[in-house]
Amino acid sequence: MVSEKMKTFMTGNSAIRAMFEEGKKMAKVYGSENVYDFSLGNPSVEPPKEVNEAAINILRTANPNSLHGYPNNSGYEDVRLHLALRSNSIHGTDYSEKNYVITTGAAAALNIILKVILDPGDEVIVFAPYFGEYNNYVKNYDGIVVPVMADLSTFQPDLSSFEQKLSDKTRAVIINTPNNPTGVVYSEETIKAISLILDNKSRQTGKPVYLISDEPYRELVYDNIKVPFVPDYYNNTFVAYSYSKSLSIPGERIGYVCVNSAADGFDEIVSCLNVANRILGFVNAPTIWQKVIPYCSDLSVDKSVYELNRKDLYSQLCGLGYECVKPQGAFYMFPKTLIPDDKEFCNAAKEFRLLIVPGSSFGCPGFCRISYCVSHDTVINSYESFKALKEKFSR
Ligand code: PLP
Repeated sequence: MVSEKMKTFMTGNSAIRAMFEEGKKMAKVYGSENVYDFSLGNPSVEPPKEVNEAAINILRTANPNSLHGYPNNSGYEDVRLHLALRSNSIHGTDYSEKNYVITTGAAAALNIILKVILDPGDEVIVFAPYFGEYNNYVKNYDGIVVPVMADLSTFQPDLSSFEQKLSDKTRAVIINTPNNPTGVVYSEETIKAISLILDNKSRQTGKPVYLISDEPYRELVYDNIKVPFVPDYYNNTFVAYSYSKSLSIPGERIGYVCVNSAADGFDEIVSCLNVANRILGFVNAPTIWQKVIPYCSDLSVDKSVYELNRKDLYSQLCGLGYECVKPQGAFYMFPKTLIPDDKEFCNAAKEFRLLIVPGSSFGCPGFCRISYCVSHDTVINSYESFKALKEKFSR
């Protein structure tokens, strides 16, 4: 018999996964080339060749005992030092290996951060639309998610609602930029404004409110747009980073937490992150992939495929009369649904073999997420279906 708490995680769980399963069934009936599956954020571009080369080379040359043994729970010291020196040269920080804990992806990074800072009943603000797993991660530690709707015309956070939702129980704010599901990058102005509001709140309550910057898509940006480096603006910042998307290796589970040196309680936080990594059962991140980091941290996948998909799909959808904020990064777009009920809309899309995810899964009904990390052929071949869907709701 499962626990009552676990039952609450199961209700309404993962519409995205369910859709993925449905896509596989549809592919059997219609042929995979005739199903336009935009449901999952699984990278479609191969990792840079250096990634596999580095992994093979490490397996060939490293001392097997040390390579396959347990490292420090925070990860290999030399790898963490590499990350620190890289940050110091790019962002002018003063980091050392102490600022880093290497994790099994951003999912583990977020979980250990929340484990370390939340007491039961503490509130965590998220800006909708947001990655739905935040609900589960926060609930893991008996925290309460407080969603704040973004300005729906830009998907930048609505700062006045944000100020209103802050309370004495607010312990953290999670931001995700470039954003899943909108593809929007939060501007420097937005980051500055969030930081100022949080500084004021922390001063007023005498307790720090932490800013958690979830950044798996940092490298996937278009038109040379800059993604602000959040610790430059706010002392109490954690960065949760992942190589899942930047190097197209989500199955390898590798990423890290970076704690800003100026964060309140830095030493205690760092020790606790190390322990959280162990006691949550991650223990340490996979050692081969830790060792790959120094060889590949400056690399990124070939973005041109995503860029072309973004350009073509965006112009096609706008041409058909769909309303959409142009994504600046990641590999998602988030158009308005043609009827208010986004679930009904995404269900109707299946008639045309289009798999898209209701905005409600991201706390933002009335929209849908299209993951364009697919082949360019899928994008081109889907046009007729998007057209037929539009016609269905124009009658
Ligand atoms: N955060 C966001 C916004 C994501 O989209 C994802 C994965 O899709 C994650 C975190 C988790 O990524 P990882 O594979 O690094 O655990």
